[in-house]
Amino acid sequence: MEQRSDGEHGPRGDGLRHSLDRIGSGLLLIVIVTTVLLHRVIVSPTPNAASIAAHSSQPLAAAPGPDRLATPHVPPTPPDPAQSNLPVPSTRVDQAPATRRGGDNQHVAVPEPTPLSAAELAKYKPNELGHIPVLMYHAFTTNPEYLDDWTRTLDGFREDLQWLSDHDFFLIGIGDVLRNEIAVPAGKHPVVLTFDDASSGQFRLLQDATGERYPDPTTAVGVMEAFFTEHPDVGRGAHFAFVPNNCFRYDEEVVTCEERLTWLAEHGYEIGNHTWYHQNLSEADDERFMSQIGDTKLWIDEHVSGKANQSNVLTLPFGALPATEGQYQMLVNGFDWQGQRIQMAAILLVGGGPSVSPDSAAWDPWGIARFNTDEATLGLWKEQIESGAMTLYTSDGNPASVTIPEDLPEDLAGQFDPDDLASRGRSLLRYDATPAVDQPNR
Ligand SMILES: [Zn+2]
Repeated sequence: MEQRSDGEHGPRGDGLRHSLDRIGSGLLLIVIVTTVLLHRVIVSPTPNAASIAAHSSQPLAAAPGPDRLATPHVPPTPPDPAQSNLPVPSTRVDQAPATRRGGDNQHVAVPEPTPLSAAELAKYKPNELGHIPVLMYHAFTTNPEYLDDWTRTLDGFREDLQWLSDHDFFLIGIGDVLRNEIAVPAGKHPVVLTFDDASSGQFRLLQDATGERYPDPTTAVGVMEAFFTEHPDVGRGAHFAFVPNNCFRYDEEVVTCEERLTWLAEHGYEIGNHTWYHQNLSEADDERFMSQIGDTKLWIDEHVSGKANQSNVLTLPFGALPATEGQYQMLVNGFDWQGQRIQMAAILLVGGGPSVSPDSAAWDPWGIARFNTDEATLGLWKEQIESGAMTLYTSDGNPASVTIPEDLPEDLAGQFDPDDLASRGRSLLRYDATPAVDQPNR
């Protein structure tokens, strides 16, 4: 890989820098301003020593090592409600679970790759150059009083899932996008849900008297599992931007961190890299930069296998950019840590709007845009989608082929590069989708 010493980015680094620039300094400022708030919401509502250390602004004495996770059961500190105004998601275990999932449903039916007929093209209107929304979630609460830009109520989250289902979306993972293996039924729109920070409002694994384990229904995963049971045609899965030091920890836990990850992996969820201590990468020297990303990657690699392992997908903590040119290069070109090569593959941004198709000329794995799910931001994008102002990726049902209409809408102008698709061995099909009357997305 070409290396430059003149302060310019290499060819791939350019893409990263451009992508990061797309967030804009304004948004970056917002991200920085909300850092304090994030510190509040991502900390477990019943903080223990480890989680406090994770979010302390004090420098840490030593680089964290994977052995920290060998003893995940830090003695819990009793919560003091009078001392904190942090959101307090329910941790009740006496509530009957809405659903219990076995290992029988983690595989979503993948459509057979058959070419679409003219009638099917007219019916489904595939456009695999369209946008793929990547929704960003942080904390969850059952109490609407705790709602803020970084906290969604579980009822609100359920409504989000219903809206996605009603509008023909189909859940996939970031890994599916990165591999460009988008196995979505014809006529449906891929969407990725992402959950940052590994807080206990996202996932708690409970155990009944018989030893059977199930996700707490008052967590995001519990809500998803119940929804997937009722709506098997919406796909399944999500990407967890994982912070090992948090690991969905809470007081009454009955399972280990490793067991939680195993459960998620076996049920179609992805585990990605959000650094060991939620490190602000703009404030990290090289050693810390490498340890925060490298230790997290090696630990996930040790505990999560298969497609669930997305340890080389880095979600930027606080949306903060690496501090130096050298660190950009380490992300893009890899670095050696603990005797192993650490090679990242993609970066998830904190903001930037809807992501583009991996078949788009604008596709850049080093700057995958997401949008937040606060009411205002989500409302804006829902409006764009419902009005048809934003063209969605609409699947032809065949991951191996790329189907794109002859006439491209304005928001995809400049994103079509047939030579680039051909050079990547993509099988391209164009068709005339000119409708008698423009049909906005449902
Ligand atoms: Zn985070």
